[in-house]
Amino acid sequence: MSRLNNYNEWYLDIVEKAQLSDKRYPIKGMNVWMPYGWKIMTFIDRYIREKLDATNHCEVSFPLLIPETEFKKEKDHIKGFDSEVYWVTHAGLDELDVKLVIRPTSETAMYPIFSLWIRSHQDLPLKIYQIVNTFRYETKQTRPFIRMREIHFFESHTCHDTEKDAQKQIEEDLEIVKDIANKLCIPYCLLKRTDWDKFPGAYYTVGIDTVMPNHKVLQIGSVHHYRTNFSEPYNIMYEDENGEHKYVHQTTYGMSERLLGVVISVHGDDKGLCLPPLIAPFEVVIIPIFGKNNKKEISEATVKIKNELEMANIRTKLDNRNDRPGSKYYDWEIKGVPLRLELGARDIDNNVVTFVRRDNGERGTINASSLIPEIKSILADITRSMNDKAWKFHNDAIFDLKTTSDIPKDEEDSKLMVYRFGWCGCPECGHKFEDDNNIKILGTPYFSESYDGECIICGKKTKTSAYAARTM
Ligand code: ZN
Repeated sequence: MSRLNNYNEWYLDIVEKAQLSDKRYPIKGMNVWMPYGWKIMTFIDRYIREKLDATNHCEVSFPLLIPETEFKKEKDHIKGFDSEVYWVTHAGLDELDVKLVIRPTSETAMYPIFSLWIRSHQDLPLKIYQIVNTFRYETKQTRPFIRMREIHFFESHTCHDTEKDAQKQIEEDLEIVKDIANKLCIPYCLLKRTDWDKFPGAYYTVGIDTVMPNHKVLQIGSVHHYRTNFSEPYNIMYEDENGEHKYVHQTTYGMSERLLGVVISVHGDDKGLCLPPLIAPFEVVIIPIFGKNNKKEISEATVKIKNELEMANIRTKLDNRNDRPGSKYYDWEIKGVPLRLELGARDIDNNVVTFVRRDNGERGTINASSLIPEIKSILADITRSMNDKAWKFHNDAIFDLKTTSDIPKDEEDSKLMVYRFGWCGCPECGHKFEDDNNIKILGTPYFSESYDGECIICGKKTKTSAYAARTM
């Protein structure tokens, strides 16, 4: 099945063949993570933890259930989530006095507690995060890791004494985004969402967007500046040096299992998954190539290589199943193991090991005496080349739009692109553009790009560009 010509079916096929998720669970949009898929996700989580811990965030775990009374305190927030939350209305046979929301996100669980934790300016900044599952009743067609009703998610929440300090937090979050994306080889745009599309209750939202193989765009995460929009209803105040009581400024940053959905989509090919080394359950697979009378010798040599690699902290699988090498290659290609080593009689004679890269199919030999440094350097090069290839696809998909007649009207049109164009910034032009063309404005570049042109709707001169695409 072809990724570029038939992306939707290709995706479901890979998820099943690589044994990432079992789709047979009787509730739509709730994932049964299989061991291989869950292992990859735990490696993604581990790296996120590492980055957040290194920037002085503390990990916490808040309850899944939120009382309706707390949930309803911020009115834009509840309006934004009203149609997609699950409710708990009964405990056993008794109807509850106060209904409970199953968290769609944790602002309203955390902020009543923040108001107790924070007393003085010395308690600030408060920087916490959690990695949990959230629940949103998704009415569109669900898709593993990409559009789910139970979402594996990390969320960080911070409180600051000033708006300026909160703004600095946004910059730190975007550095973390850059680093995670680089390790997962995921290209992205940082776009400040339109006012009508920002997170419910936010002052502004930065969307982290990536282009999928069908040229539709998927939001893989977001960063929000709340100013005091939540601290006022939740009464989160601190006492400053002069004894004055003030509301804290807040931010949040979140990403989800969609990261895995993007890794599958952006790097996979017609043979299967292709995993970036950082999150591959096995970075290297070793396949012994047995001849007529050398089974013992080859077996011993492959075990020795496996031990050597593991000593060097390279996650390694030795596939000594009683099966043909060709069928083993096929299995590990589906699973996307970054590097395959083969060892046969000729390799031993020449004191080399044969390697084959999953990302580009390159085949060569490594001198057995310098195995570790060479493998480490190949793995680093795989991360580099996967980034280069993915960024090229992403950048090539962005089209400078001069006239709206270049946007295909048909939803499935294969000529679909991500469009960049001039926008005066007024909501009337924005809405007209979206409605006339059945396409969503993703936002304006968070880090401004040089642009000099006219608003595509009203023709007014503008130095601001906007991006639009159909979304997944
Ligand atoms: Zn305009």
